[in-house]
Amino acid sequence: PYKDRFAGKKVLVTGASQGIGEATALRFAQEGAQVALNGRKEDKLIAVRDAMPKVSGGEHVIAAGDISKEADVERLMRESIEAMGGLDILVCNAGYQIPSPSEDIKLEDFEGVMAVNVTGVMLPCRAALKYWLENNIHGVIIVNSSVHQIIPKPHYLGYSASKGAVGNIVRSLALEYASRGIRVNAVAPGAIVTPINMSWINDPEQYKAVSSHIPMKRPGESREIADTVAFLASEESTYITGQTLYVDGGLTLYGDFEKNWS
Ligand code: NAD
Repeated sequence: PYKDRFAGKKVLVTGASQGIGEATALRFAQEGAQVALNGRKEDKLIAVRDAMPKVSGGEHVIAAGDISKEADVERLMRESIEAMGGLDILVCNAGYQIPSPSEDIKLEDFEGVMAVNVTGVMLPCRAALKYWLENNIHGVIIVNSSVHQIIPKPHYLGYSASKGAVGNIVRSLALEYASRGIRVNAVAPGAIVTPINMSWINDPEQYKAVSSHIPMKRPGESREIADTVAFLASEESTYITGQTLYVDGGLTLYGDFEKNWS
């Protein structure tokens, strides 16, 4: 981490109770930002907050609520902005997936994934944009997408559709607000060691199989995604907007061509 790169900045991270969201919240706090932590369970968020370094800007904030629910998001965004005295950076990280053969996919599962991964991006973005426009703040949005923004994901139709949608949300918002000094980008992780992936992380055979089709031959760490989110939120990326930055050890490089190039 850089020392004090985000001193005085106010950040809200959705889905911050574990995994990439937790690592991202920690990274912003380590670099001096005051952070509002969103997730559904207050007790988990309090544990994350208590492990974060304190900063001079003010106490880190618990912003509990379901990110797919309009009333929850309106409330938690308002409360977070009030508690921190502002908002400069929004990280839309919350997301999940449910596997199923597509011919048997349950409507409630499909809609549930779309609600969190797509509506759960739109709602906090809408609230942040409104606040930034009213207060003439040059805010920054970073959305956590996935390599499945472009790589198909059989058996995960909702997830696949949701991450494709996220790519165009980022591009559309970036264009709509570029002239107002607001930047919108996405980070697209490959296979990352987080609780979402415990099924293959804890199985040596599957771990080897997953690693073998990544050109860098290993999964990524949450810290490596947090590094990229921090870069896209920082003063080192002030001319970047509407982009998706793939952080995937080369997973999107059509790895088979390394050996089969003729
Ligand atoms: P995770 O399951 O460890 O964490 C997801 C977080 O989102 C949790 O804190 C969870 O409580 C929260 N969340 C879920 N539904 C919510 C809701 N309705 N309201 C508020 N919070 C909610 O997952 P992760 O691996 O850290 O993934 C984070 C993001 O990164 C997701 O958007 C995921 O699609 C993306 N991603 C992860 C990987 C990976 O390999 N881990 C790869 C590509 C993309």
